[in-house]
Amino acid sequence: MIEIIPNQFDFGSLQSRTYTRRVIIHHSASPDVSASVIHDWHRRKDWSGIGYHAVIRADGAVEAGRPLDAVGAHAGSAANRDSIGICLTGNFMMQPPSRSQMDSLPRLLDYLEDRYGTRLEVLRHKDVATTDCPGIHFPWPESSWLPVDSEVNAGLPETVPITWKDSLVSEARACQLITDNHHPDDPAPKWFVLAVGLNIMKGMGKIDAK
Ligand SMILES: [Zn+2]
Repeated sequence: MIEIIPNQFDFGSLQSRTYTRRVIIHHSASPDVSASVIHDWHRRKDWSGIGYHAVIRADGAVEAGRPLDAVGAHAGSAANRDSIGICLTGNFMMQPPSRSQMDSLPRLLDYLEDRYGTRLEVLRHKDVATTDCPGIHFPWPESSWLPVDSEVNAGLPETVPITWKDSLVSEARACQLITDNHHPDDPAPKWFVLAVGLNIMKGMGKIDAK
């Protein structure tokens, strides 16, 4: 069991995250600083408070950031909606993370896996945005530091069965109900529902295809 040191930070308005499928890793690009210092940095940018959900200090201590189930502010609006942001303090453009940090990270991932009841995909910030974060010295691929007995990313993608939701998406794409490769749990705005409905009606010849 990993200890997550709680905080008493004041946050502005937070949205709750309804869906969690991945963890995105960051470095602070700074010296070793507390979650409280990062909270102040982000408040000064007029954010609701620290954008990461957890901070792993150089000594391996894990400090809580934004509440785990709140939408974070760390990887862009699309990725923030379905991910947890973990920040390891330090500048990994200059040097690698500490051994203690890399011991705590997989333990934190195990904790999150238990909490969300599913394996969460592990990505670096640079995998979802144009950035160097978490730096060239952050060890990657994750198989180089995830213990072999850890479930996280184990054997992905071959052993992960295609879920019925994924099959629905591919089927809908194949018959051109949708055009992009949507994530099955993406929310659907009204225009999207209407577009799908109109596509069906065109397909049935009820209205003229334009
Ligand atoms: Zn980052």
